Amino acid sequence: MTALAVLDADRIDTLAASLSGTVLQSGDDRYEAARLVHNGLIDKRPALIARCRGVADVSAAVAFAREAGLEISIRGGGHSIAGRCVTNGGLMIDLAEMKGTYVDPQARTMRAQGGVLWSEFNREAAVHGLAVTGGAIASTGIAGFTLGGGLGWLMGSHGLAADNLLSVELVTADGAVLNVTDESEPDLFWALRGGGGNFGVATSLEYRLHPLREVVGGLIAHPFEAARDVLRFYREFTESVPDALTVFAGLVSAPGSAHLRLAALVVCHAGPAEEAQKDLAPLRDFGEPILVEVGPMPYPVMNTLLDDGFPRGALNYWKSSFVERLDDELIDLAIERFDTTPSPLNSILFEHFHGAVTRVGASDTAVPHREVGYNLLLPSVWLDPADTEANVGWTRATFDLFSPYFADRRWLNYFSDDDGADAVRAAYGPNYDRLLEVKRRYDPENVFRLNHNIDPVARG
Ligand SMILES: Cc1cc2nc3c(=O)[nH]c(=O)nc-3n(C[C@H](O)[C@H](O)[C@H](O)COP(=O)(O)OP(=O)(O)OC[C@H]3O[C@@H](n4cnc5c(N)ncnc54)[C@H](O)[C@@H]3O)c2cc1C
Repeated sequence: MTALAVLDADRIDTLAASLSGTVLQSGDDRYEAARLVHNGLIDKRPALIARCRGVADVSAAVAFAREAGLEISIRGGGHSIAGRCVTNGGLMIDLAEMKGTYVDPQARTMRAQGGVLWSEFNREAAVHGLAVTGGAIASTGIAGFTLGGGLGWLMGSHGLAADNLLSVELVTADGAVLNVTDESEPDLFWALRGGGGNFGVATSLEYRLHPLREVVGGLIAHPFEAARDVLRFYREFTESVPDALTVFAGLVSAPGSAHLRLAALVVCHAGPAEEAQKDLAPLRDFGEPILVEVGPMPYPVMNTLLDDGFPRGALNYWKSSFVERLDDELIDLAIERFDTTPSPLNSILFEHFHGAVTRVGASDTAVPHREVGYNLLLPSVWLDPADTEANVGWTRATFDLFSPYFADRRWLNYFSDDDGADAVRAAYGPNYDRLLEVKRRYDPENVFRLNHNIDPVARG
């Protein structure tokens, strides 16, 4: 019997009548658009989608799903590659219409509801000349991003998004609404800063903000033939960068051209303009770049520079893991593999961790990844479904070839759907056992399991 078969129309009407938002089912006008997410590979059909407008809607939706025996998924921004925000046959709690934001400019804090995207968050914070670490691109949702840690351009100065969380309004498995802070529920608050969607529905999140109007940022691109020199230079340069400067390196293709491969450096300097000029000079002066587009810009603009490389609905399969050093052999292997990439939208990226993000203790939050080093990311993106096998195969094979260089640490937010229990352990590392205790206390029946799951009945 399918989940749909046990749901009679009266019960669905009762749910619909109890929400200020709407309930969508297959056949409704907005159902098809609502079930689709950023990753076009994800094609799941919820029995019901509860488009919530507020906390009471979310609480009612959780209670309804539990009573009806429906699997729950939680959709924040709909950006996860793994697609766990959608369920096949269950109830999707969709926060896309929960867009409320409130900035307190004096206290330098901002509360935002669970359906807010980074583009929307940044805009509101920027009105007051404030910002916090958001994603490397702007269309990601704040909720899933922050609950999974949240790395981005400002992490050298201000740590991860999760490091800046002050409180979370959370609907728990029993439908209760908690204001979770370090004082009110210390263990749960600790777990929410990196433990993903395991503990409830975050209906709003409150952040500490930092004064920031402009950054000096942009792109420096070298010919692919210079990739080895560029990546070796990147390794040396990042050994002593100030906190304010974050540089990611990448092997990429020029937009619109499958043939023009590049070695690129994406830079973001969040310090004073004079310091930025000085700190960025060695990057500008190195080698013979074919493009140097670096200059002052509002932080929200910096946050959109890479957006076009990740079109909504494109097909995605990602893998990533941390490396402590960029060995010569690893650099050579990356160049060799990129030369065989099947899609011009694929890239090999090195995301540098340093500064504030590395000064937080490994067990101070649920995110243990506090070492100086690089997250090596293979964000594979292609447009034609006929190319899926080639791209997934290339990404897996490349990841396997890199594995001798990996530390046993993985970035939760970048998981694909086939990253299983071992990957989850590598993401939570030494924090896994404490997360398991918190999961057992707040969600012993694993109501919230469509995520990178901490199974409460698993052995620690
Ligand atoms: C193009 C692109 C760029 C990215 N860049 C970065 C980056 O720079 N740094 C980084 O760290 N990550 C990055 N990510 C990964 C991204 O942070 C994660 O996919 C994150 O989960 C997205 O959050 P979301 O709310 O949009 O996701 P969704 O797909 O809506 O949700 C993902 C998961 O989070 C949980 N969740 C979502 N909302 C809630 C909620 N309100 N309450 C409880 N649980 C919830 C659920 O378990 C859900 O399955 C990127 C992803 C893409 C596709």
